[in-house]
Amino acid sequence: MIYLDNAATTKMFEGALGQYQKFACDLFYNPSAFYREGRLVRAELDNARKSLLEKLGAKEGTVIFTGGATESNNLAIMGSKRNGKWEYVFSNGEHPSVFNVAKELERQGAIVHFVPLQASGEVDYDKLEEIVCEKTRLVSVMHVSNETGAVNDIARIKKIISKKSKALLHVDGVQAFNKIMFDISKLGVDLYTISAHKFHGPKGVGALYVKDVKVLKNIVFGGGQENDLRSGTENVAGIMAMKWASEHIDVEKNFENAIKLKNIMTETLKQDDNFKIIESFSPYIMSVSYAGVNGETLARALQDEGVLVSTGSACSTKKAGNRILESMGMKKEDVKSSIRISFNAYMSADEVKKAGEIILQCAKKIKNLEL
Ligand code: PMP
Repeated sequence: MIYLDNAATTKMFEGALGQYQKFACDLFYNPSAFYREGRLVRAELDNARKSLLEKLGAKEGTVIFTGGATESNNLAIMGSKRNGKWEYVFSNGEHPSVFNVAKELERQGAIVHFVPLQASGEVDYDKLEEIVCEKTRLVSVMHVSNETGAVNDIARIKKIISKKSKALLHVDGVQAFNKIMFDISKLGVDLYTISAHKFHGPKGVGALYVKDVKVLKNIVFGGGQENDLRSGTENVAGIMAMKWASEHIDVEKNFENAIKLKNIMTETLKQDDNFKIIESFSPYIMSVSYAGVNGETLARALQDEGVLVSTGSACSTKKAGNRILESMGMKKEDVKSSIRISFNAYMSADEVKKAGEIILQCAKKIKNLEL
């Protein structure tokens, strides 16, 4: 089987599993306990915090450990909401864990704006500039699109915001952290979401980078762990496994390999003019469509041939994928034909070449059957 759905989730590193076991079975103590064992686990958690901050390139701030990116996104948005006539700005390309929080804000009576996307999949920076004003409380734009691999220019967004307001900038960095090179201290973000299972760590654990904890309020109530911002005993084993995974990823080396893999796939599919490929900066994600062939039909046929791809992000409904591709101005029939191919840096060139040939053959076969 060739797995090409790494944007949905990745296989956990064996070493990360080793850490998981160590902190679930041996050093299983509660990090809030007063005795030595508890304090030792607390120190390990703080090391994990430091390690992530360093990998992010942060010069200030902290990370709040959460139960994954969905929770981090909810905390960032709902936690920065304030009473009064504040406005909130989101891109149209956001994952449902941001987009549906925006919808909830709207339902609760807040003024919420959605910024359209360009044909490239990046947010429309000019439209963003028109919308942001001094009443803007928060702008939330993702770093790398999970649908297309488009990369938003976060530093440029920060500049646009700063010209007109003191708004906070939240970035969903799930498809960027440990995948593309960046230095968070140069992006000007206030809040940044990461998720362990997208970089070979365990599912159900993530973090929210917070530059200044004073801008956030807790959204769940309890024991006050995690700087009073996220109550509940920390998922220590998951966090330590996330730390291990993060520390064992060479982002630059992996990026180079992912470029090679994406190029191989692109060259293979380009043998047939019916394939349309959306150009995007992230080498990990490709959105492609084959004219006249339904994406879901193709994905199912590929499954029978041992190649796993998706027709959009796994955790969203198909409608979310459509929302994003349609916002880029893609034709309805191309949206219907779309599949998403996503790599991890540890795949071999041969594997990708083989999968590319299978995709090519399957698409042709379906097209001929339907003619
Ligand atoms: N944001 C993006 C961009 C994603 O791709 C995903 C996962 N599909 C999430 C958020 C949600 O992540 P989690 O599964 O950790 O809640």
